[in-house]
Amino acid sequence: MTSTLNRPDITNPNTLPMNDDQRSIIGALRDFLKNEVEPGAAERDQTGEFPHDIVRGLGDLGIMGAQTPEEYGGSGLDTATFAMIIEEIAAVDGSLCLTVASHNSLCQGHILIGGTEEQKRTFLPDLATAKKLGAWGLTEPGSGSDSGGMQSRAAQQPDGSWILNGSKNFITQGSVGGTYVVLARTDAAREGRGKNDGISAFVFNRDDVTGFSIGRKEDKLGLRSSDTAQLIFEDIHLPADALLGERGNAFKDVMRVLDGGRVGIAAMGLGLGRAAFEYAARYTLQREQFGRPIAHNQDISFRLADIDTKLDAARLLIRKAADLKDAGLNFTVPVARAKLYATTVGVEACDEAIQMLGGYGYIKEYPVERYWRDNRLTRIGEGTDEVQRLVISRDVLKRFAD
Ligand SMILES: Cc1cc2nc3c(=O)[nH]c(=O)nc-3n(C[C@H](O)[C@H](O)[C@H](O)COP(=O)(O)OP(=O)(O)OC[C@H]3O[C@@H](n4cnc5c(N)ncnc54)[C@H](O)[C@@H]3O)c2cc1C
Repeated sequence: MTSTLNRPDITNPNTLPMNDDQRSIIGALRDFLKNEVEPGAAERDQTGEFPHDIVRGLGDLGIMGAQTPEEYGGSGLDTATFAMIIEEIAAVDGSLCLTVASHNSLCQGHILIGGTEEQKRTFLPDLATAKKLGAWGLTEPGSGSDSGGMQSRAAQQPDGSWILNGSKNFITQGSVGGTYVVLARTDAAREGRGKNDGISAFVFNRDDVTGFSIGRKEDKLGLRSSDTAQLIFEDIHLPADALLGERGNAFKDVMRVLDGGRVGIAAMGLGLGRAAFEYAARYTLQREQFGRPIAHNQDISFRLADIDTKLDAARLLIRKAADLKDAGLNFTVPVARAKLYATTVGVEACDEAIQMLGGYGYIKEYPVERYWRDNRLTRIGEGTDEVQRLVISRDVLKRFAD
């Protein structure tokens, strides 16, 4: 990366200053989004069709292995650049954005954190180039926020191999995935370690196993062309080297994976909010009531000013978390703040946009209701608002306890 900073992008004055590499990546991505993604986004929202061709195109652009090192077929980008990429995609197609974010941060993210050299060489090149899509299975019907309560079990056999049983709920790329990272209990929690102890991670290609099936595909409020499905494991035989990371100790990797994932979900909330804000700003300048553009009512222009300011503040919180991650520093609390704030103001921006469009905001011909429906997930996935507040409040109470 060069350190030359260019002026912020003129089409979005709030974009953070970019270096030359970022400018060229974001420029190429914007062209692709404008030509290949934007034209069909509203229709895919209606049909729910998964955009395989578009995902392959993003693979060619290096976006599907954005943060995976070049030696494993990826682009090796830093987290700040990844957040910019996610914001751009979200501003055009929320469904596609969730696909890209989870494929990169969850599936590849976990392999990068917990994988052996051999596992990285086996799985990452196909994922980074979008030859295979990646899914990550933590959530179960009975365990969401409290993910340590999972019921899936993997039992080790005398020859070292594993037999996996159980199910996973709400898994992004669940039915279109090629490579799966899944969590299962392998051991009882050790004394004094809490119920998150004794959980292990496994990685496998779907084509290499039997006993794996897809349950229900979810019919969702938004993100309708992102694939969300239940995974069912019935005596899946996995080789000994499917174990990803340390036996019984996967939860610490899960927390790191989620920290990384939250940068992406925060940027997704921001991008969708930005799209709604930009649409509303243009609309209110064109729509006339009482003989003048509605934007010329101070109530509306001040609300636009507030949203503009909040979105920019969200972008800075995301950048702070991204920079701490790239510096190898602990970013758990900063990214919880970034996700909580960016997704809250992102959804607020969508809601305000609907209000500013009046009845038209409620009609599917206009995109803002889709932005709102898509964005509502960002306050739930990869840790709800309340889970972020748990993380932040624990830190606050610890800091001021003495
Ligand atoms: C579209 C979509 C895609 C997803 N993709 C994936 C994926 O790829 N992989 C994966 O593993 N999971 C995935 N998920 C699951 C997602 O991460 C969970 O839905 C989320 O973590 C919340 O869990 P839950 O739905 O079981 O809600 P619950 O945990 O049951 O929570 C219900 C409510 O209770 C609140 N609550 C719970 N505990 C507390 C507490 N201690 N204090 C205060 N409030 C609390 C929550 O904040 C929430 O408001 C996806 C979900 C959706 C909808």
